[in-house]
Amino acid sequence: MKEQIEQLQEKALSDLQLAADLKALQDVRVQVLGKKGALTEVMKGMRDLAPEERPVVGSLVNTLKDQFETRFAERQAELQQQAIAGKLASEKIDVTLPGRRAVLGSKHPVTLVSEEIVDIFSRLGFMVEEGPEIEQDFYNFEALNIPKDHPARDMQDTFYITDDLVLRTHTSPVQIRAMLKHKPPLRVIAPGTVYRRDSDLTHSPMFHQIEGFLVDEKVTFGDLKGILTHFLREYFGEGLGVRFRPSFFPFTEPSAEVDIECVICGGEGCRVCSRTGWLEILGCGMIDPEVFGSVDYDSDKYSGFAFGMGLERIAMLKYGVGDLRLFFENDLRFLKQF
Ligand SMILES: [Zn+2]
Repeated sequence: MKEQIEQLQEKALSDLQLAADLKALQDVRVQVLGKKGALTEVMKGMRDLAPEERPVVGSLVNTLKDQFETRFAERQAELQQQAIAGKLASEKIDVTLPGRRAVLGSKHPVTLVSEEIVDIFSRLGFMVEEGPEIEQDFYNFEALNIPKDHPARDMQDTFYITDDLVLRTHTSPVQIRAMLKHKPPLRVIAPGTVYRRDSDLTHSPMFHQIEGFLVDEKVTFGDLKGILTHFLREYFGEGLGVRFRPSFFPFTEPSAEVDIECVICGGEGCRVCSRTGWLEILGCGMIDPEVFGSVDYDSDKYSGFAFGMGLERIAMLKYGVGDLRLFFENDLRFLKQF
């Protein structure tokens, strides 16, 4: 019996040492101390021993049990350490690896110009209004004093969806919508996409305009000149030459076109300004009383001015871009320069 216990002790302790992981270690424990374990069997056999032998064997069993438990705890701690170390090694993060950088986009030059212009007019108390790109005839033409037989309605220029619906040909319908929505005094700036049946080197069927207007009591052409001159000098540079030429628009009377001193040659004359030293930059005028009639404003009490300009043209001049089509090709090599 004593020999049997010693053998068991040797085997149990060696099995503990050989257990490769925590599960194997637990298995060894069950094999020794479990209900049907080797040591349990030995203890059952003690019943058959002579009474004087029992304390001797009992003491041996207890010693074995103590030793086994001690070694078990040690080995368990060892294996737990190993498991943690293994996990740490396999999940190691190399902090020196370069990360995957998110590519930052940049704003489209037309968006930039629009935001810069809106910013200047916001400081002058103008608020931003927007309108739909699919527009009713009333807002795009009728209310703007563009009668049925006006050349601007020519099929060459306008994309008609139905007899009554068009892709808006200018941002001016936003004027009508804003005036119907708000009562004067009113200062509005309205950037947006517009469409015309026109496509060549300097025209695109889709382009962008920014429209602005101001309505109040006693607004004069002097106010128009003052605000637009301020805007153009703020945008293109202090001391810039600005001139107003008489022109015609159906929704303003009187109307003017505004030229600025050529920003490419400084007025000397170059290819961009056709040797004139001047660049046409925007159209404007005093809002026609007919337009006030369409929105039920009292034209005896109120007067106002409106202006509009093409954003692509301004972006071309501001950033020295020679070809309009570059704005719509979405070539990243071009767009990343802004
Ligand atoms: Zn020039």
